[in-house]
Amino acid sequence: MIPAILPTYARANLTFVKGEGSWLVDDQGRRFLDIGGGIAVNALGHAHPELVETLQQQASQLWHTSNLYHIPNQTALADRLVASTFADTMFFTNSGTEAMECAVKMARKYFSHNGQPERYKMIAFEQSFHGRTLGMISAAGAEKLTKGFGPMLEGFTQVPLHDLEALKMAIDDETAAIIIEPVQGEGGIIPVTDQFMRDIRALCEEHGLLLIMDEIQCGVGRTGKLFAHEWSGVTPDIMAVAKGIGGGFPLGVCLATEAAAVGMVAGSHGTTYGGNPLACAVGSKVMDIIANDAFLAQVSEKSGLFRQSLEGLVASHPEVFEEVRGAGLMLGIKCKVTNMDVVHAGYDVQLLTIPGGDNVIRILPPLNISSDDIKEAVARLDQAATAIEATL
Ligand SMILES: *Cc1c(COP(=O)(O)O)cnc(C)c1O
Repeated sequence: MIPAILPTYARANLTFVKGEGSWLVDDQGRRFLDIGGGIAVNALGHAHPELVETLQQQASQLWHTSNLYHIPNQTALADRLVASTFADTMFFTNSGTEAMECAVKMARKYFSHNGQPERYKMIAFEQSFHGRTLGMISAAGAEKLTKGFGPMLEGFTQVPLHDLEALKMAIDDETAAIIIEPVQGEGGIIPVTDQFMRDIRALCEEHGLLLIMDEIQCGVGRTGKLFAHEWSGVTPDIMAVAKGIGGGFPLGVCLATEAAAVGMVAGSHGTTYGGNPLACAVGSKVMDIIANDAFLAQVSEKSGLFRQSLEGLVASHPEVFEEVRGAGLMLGIKCKVTNMDVVHAGYDVQLLTIPGGDNVIRILPPLNISSDDIKEAVARLDQAATAIEATL
């Protein structure tokens, strides 16, 4: 019999009832070290006191009014993001995939507004992930996302990452935009090289294309800069953000330059819930905490410690692990055994990691994880790997 919840997830047999910092407590009172961060969402860990207070405060004032009226929290968060990014304007959503939908609609509208409606095609990259709407599975294109859901939305192609020639070949008179994750997340924690980012920007300039970045997973301090593209010095025209920006409250946002947003006039796009007072109160508090040099320097410091310890771990378990990769606190360990076996061995030692593409386990801990918790996480990964070795 079908369960009451559509069985689209092969869920682990774990039920959490409480969280604190990097730790989760299950319904049997066991404490799990959570270095998956709810898939890069819990940027400040569980039950961060300032986020809890902010949400409670706003909850007693006002939950929802709709976007028919001004929402001061939304304006405050937007002003703050304008001040600290390339963007001049933005649209708030409830999720990442909606932010990407807005990005794609905006790019198409840009060309139609500018008298080139025939330019609607977009080039994305293999192994990318942009969400689960029909539009975004069409954009990413992988069969595991699209199978059985066809026909796909027309106008998307995918080329291999870091293949400049393939990218050039894919551009034609109908191309509108290039879509890229500066660090691929679901695909297996694959950072795009600074050079490739610059090459893409140059192609966009040459052909008049818009550059859309998906920083839903790699943004908001995750790599040690506020946004991952800052490492390359290349800025997008349009960027989707979600996950970490809400610290666990559903919130997404599509940011853009004034030029790129030119067609998005009154009535052209909308959302009932997006950017509501609760979400934007939390989002502003997340930004207060993360968007400063001292906090971001801590992320890089913790990254150094984590990465170095993981290199040691990989070296001492050569039959289980292959390599460490990633940026900041967006780390991946490529496995030699099946990655799900490592994730499961983690559960046995009360450690939560996240599987990813290319046989990787993803490590996406709270950005404020303590050094002690990092050491504990590596110790538990060591135990998990030792347990796996005993079965080989
Ligand atoms: C998670 C993710 C999405 C989809 O976000 P949702 O909030 O699940 O809709 C899109 N792109 C990337 C890079 C992501 O990591």
